[in-house]
Amino acid sequence: MSGQADIALIGLAVMGQNLILNMDEKGFVVCAYNRTVAKVKEFLANEAKGTNVIGADSLKDMVSKLKSPRKVMLLVKAGSAVDDFIQQLVPLLSAGDVIIDGGNSEYQDTSRRCDELAKLGLLYVGSGVSGGEEGARHGPSLMPGGHEAAWPLIQPIFQAICAKADGEPCCEWVGDGGAGHFVKMVHNGIEYGDMQLICEAYHIMQSLGLSADQMADEFGKWNSAELDSFLIEITRDILKYKDGKGHLLERIRDTAGQKGTGKWTAIAALQYGVPVTLIGEAVFSRCLSALKDERVQASSVLKGPSTKAEVANLTKFLDDIKHALYCAKIVSYAQGFMLMREAARENKWRLNYGGIALMWRGGCIIRSVFLGNIKDAYTSQPQLSNLLLDDFFKKAIERGQDSWREVVANAFRWGIPVPALSTALSFYDGYRTAKLPANLLQAQRDYFGAHTYELLGQEGQFHHTNWTGT
Ligand code: NAP
Repeated sequence: MSGQADIALIGLAVMGQNLILNMDEKGFVVCAYNRTVAKVKEFLANEAKGTNVIGADSLKDMVSKLKSPRKVMLLVKAGSAVDDFIQQLVPLLSAGDVIIDGGNSEYQDTSRRCDELAKLGLLYVGSGVSGGEEGARHGPSLMPGGHEAAWPLIQPIFQAICAKADGEPCCEWVGDGGAGHFVKMVHNGIEYGDMQLICEAYHIMQSLGLSADQMADEFGKWNSAELDSFLIEITRDILKYKDGKGHLLERIRDTAGQKGTGKWTAIAALQYGVPVTLIGEAVFSRCLSALKDERVQASSVLKGPSTKAEVANLTKFLDDIKHALYCAKIVSYAQGFMLMREAARENKWRLNYGGIALMWRGGCIIRSVFLGNIKDAYTSQPQLSNLLLDDFFKKAIERGQDSWREVVANAFRWGIPVPALSTALSFYDGYRTAKLPANLLQAQRDYFGAHTYELLGQEGQFHHTNWTGT
């Protein structure tokens, strides 16, 4: 016998609770459940008081309260908790029922779970959920992938609760297996890159002697043009923020934390052999920042350049920094999309790149006007091989590259670390170079390891030379 609830949601921490309230507000009946069952009662009596949310005191009870085909969404700690719940749910569900994992699961775990459950006739979905607590409550960006037959069953709920950008839902079917979680992982990696670029811009401005208020004004200006984005906006607000002791930012310890999704993106880039250099540098920059004690010691021992950071025309140089950030950001997204393209090729996912840009356009941390431009690029050329080749972005880099080079060169002269801004520039120069020095590299490999080389114009034929002639 079918129950009354449209969906069950397991996991009553921040994300789960807010997503339930969001679903309830959109008219869906949700059945709430949690490992620590006492939290269900607490939730119904407090946050969910006066709503149509119902609760369950066991998984069996929860399943009995669901309309068929049943939909169960997990928002629990990624890892073994997901496997544990799946194991307990399997005997309670029937063929055609849907299990959705909305946590930050590793995409290969999702692929594995999808295959295992498909054998039992269950439809599995791994969905990226972005936007944190606020997004979950009022409209997250949702990136579902997995067993495609599940999509028509969950689409009405997902597209009702997600964020909207220009009237369109920030949620589309991403692809088979772990595609949804892969795209969410790349999203998080790009978030690392965007944040690092902003930090480097801030570091340069600070070195030039700008006050927190002057920097806030500058970020405020950037936020009204092509860099208009959530992260630039919050940076402006953070710079302005004062408590009883003055600007809070300057008193925050300069060691960055991380939960691992940026690292996963960098690892995936290495595994797929795609040069996602900016996200890699962003992850390493967090690692370097964490070596606070070593850095403090080294700062009194290791000398930098004697050239002091100063410019003749500050207004012009601030504009140069904006262009540098924008150009590097284009490279970062181009690299992220290159990674998705390669993963799609290897995993046989049919990714819709314009749809992905739209999913990120609203609701999530990297939401920006810029993603609208990416969406336009892929809408007009779905087969676009690289964002850098799109006319809009090609021209933006043409306009900004002198500024970008000026900023990176000056930062190097002044001894200010700009790993993300500079790696993006090196990538750009490498990508636009028809003949790289890898000919020498191949010769070296052949010299010491007889790894062979191809000659220009004779591709596919491999040669070995006895370089010492002995
Ligand atoms: P969380 O702190 O990651 O997880 C807490 C929930 O997981 C609780 O319901 C907890 O149950 C359950 N849980 C933990 N270990 C378990 C185990 N071994 N077996 C069964 N249940 C277990 O919660 P969250 O911050 O709301 O995040 C939920 C998921 O969304 C995570 O995968 C997270 O990475 C992802 N996510 C979070 C955010 C965010 O901003 N927080 C944003 C996007 C995605 P008990 O109450 O019984 O301990």
